[in-house]
Amino acid sequence: MKIIIIGNNVAGTFSAQNIRNLNDGVDIEIFTEEKYPYYTRIKLPEFISDKVSIDDFIVFKENWYHTNKISLHLEEKVVKILPKEKKIYTDKSPGPLSYDKLIIATGSNPNIPPIENAPEMEHKGLFTLRNIKDALEIKEYIAKLNIKSKAVIIGGGLLGLELANQINQLDLDTTVVEFFPRLLPKQLDDECSLMLKEEIKGRGINVVLSAATEAILGNNHVEGIKLKDGRVFNADIVLIQAGISPEITLAKNAGIETNRGIIVNEFLETSEKDVYAVGDCIEYKNQTWGIIPACMEQSKIISASVLEKKTKKYAGTTPKNTLKIVGLDLTSIGIFDPSSEQGGGWDILRKADKKDCCYEKIVLKDNKLKGAILFGDNTAMQYVTNKMEQDVDPKELRKLLDIHEYACVNCGAVYDEAKMEVPFEDLPDTFKCPNPDCRATKKDFKLKI
Ligand SMILES: Cc1cc2nc3c(=O)[nH]c(=O)nc-3n(C[C@H](O)[C@H](O)[C@H](O)COP(=O)(O)OP(=O)(O)OC[C@H]3O[C@@H](n4cnc5c(N)ncnc54)[C@H](O)[C@@H]3O)c2cc1C
Repeated sequence: MKIIIIGNNVAGTFSAQNIRNLNDGVDIEIFTEEKYPYYTRIKLPEFISDKVSIDDFIVFKENWYHTNKISLHLEEKVVKILPKEKKIYTDKSPGPLSYDKLIIATGSNPNIPPIENAPEMEHKGLFTLRNIKDALEIKEYIAKLNIKSKAVIIGGGLLGLELANQINQLDLDTTVVEFFPRLLPKQLDDECSLMLKEEIKGRGINVVLSAATEAILGNNHVEGIKLKDGRVFNADIVLIQAGISPEITLAKNAGIETNRGIIVNEFLETSEKDVYAVGDCIEYKNQTWGIIPACMEQSKIISASVLEKKTKKYAGTTPKNTLKIVGLDLTSIGIFDPSSEQGGGWDILRKADKKDCCYEKIVLKDNKLKGAILFGDNTAMQYVTNKMEQDVDPKELRKLLDIHEYACVNCGAVYDEAKMEVPFEDLPDTFKCPNPDCRATKKDFKLKI
């Protein structure tokens, strides 16, 4: 059996690896338009700031492919799929190539919002970051700038902030411009987002929220951006990190069912027989992902499916995101804001320690762990990751998160840290019992749970 895989990043590579682990005999060929064997995109911002070299983040060198009997075709783009004939064309092969099973792992591309003058300014100071080629271009452009030149990053999501942090460390005056009124709008609630904003600003990065970019300024090269409210920010380089879109062109042109992504079923089969899809490019039950854990999970399912061992069904992946900025521990997992969810039974355990910049929020539904934000203290990370979607004991959680209730010995009034702005220990000695009829002060409160 011959399996062809289009795309050689997490999804394509791990699908190949899992297939090989299950079957030593099948032929596996991978095509990628990129120049490098499988590397992790996580390190690209650090590559821009010269903290790592390309060699440091190539995960599987070419000998890995030889050992696993996988033929890798670098810099060879697949240009057409003929699913009925079970053939593909590449930009290098003189004729069609046949397959028995085809896996589409074409990933995603950065979005460029409809901003005036953006298409004209691309590569003239305006860049997105997705691959090593983009990173090399950005590095080269920055090398020509003076120290203290200005950089604007459009997008205050994870990638935007990670990139801003590295750019800032290159001594560029760095500003992050975010459309929504808070940073990490898809991962954080207002309260934690505000704390994060202060931390980011403390690192010398300017943050502008509720800012819709109207135009990129400049003729031959980028000179700045103009917001819809009329404000102008000068910039020598503008980097857009405003989300991603699944790469579906090949599939769509082949008549495979697509929407936002390539539509797959629970076995990661597409609408065409013997054609599968995996990774950032897929859409399953109206959802797309764009994170490595989803690719890894899907690559296990797809390997069984293509080998006709449909033992496992895909049921989606819980979103888990960690901000990778040294000294800032921040992870958001699952549901973090039940106010936008349906039904009752929701409960929140939350502790905000603004003095020490710590925020822990656990979301439960009928005592089942549904999500969390952990900022500044990741002691509970392992527990949360292991217990997602499982029943938990709120008392045990309180202990783990160091969230307590204190009761007034006079009147029984309760100070529940999970509901208050300030941890009990940080209250001044002059703190008065919230019961207006009680004269007790902080010393009259005793630990309850
Ligand atoms: C800077 C950065 C940091 C990130 N950090 C994190 C992180 O910390 N945690 C996390 O979970 N996720 C992170 N991500 C997202 C993560 O990298 C993606 O989810 C993951 O790379 C998706 O893998 P994939 O294999 O589905 O697709 P991709 O990585 O997009 O790879 C698809 C590959 O297919 C190739 N291709 C496409 N069309 C063709 C064609 N026609 N012919 C041949 N080849 C083709 C592309 O060139 C590409 O190499 C980050 C992404 C970026 C850009």
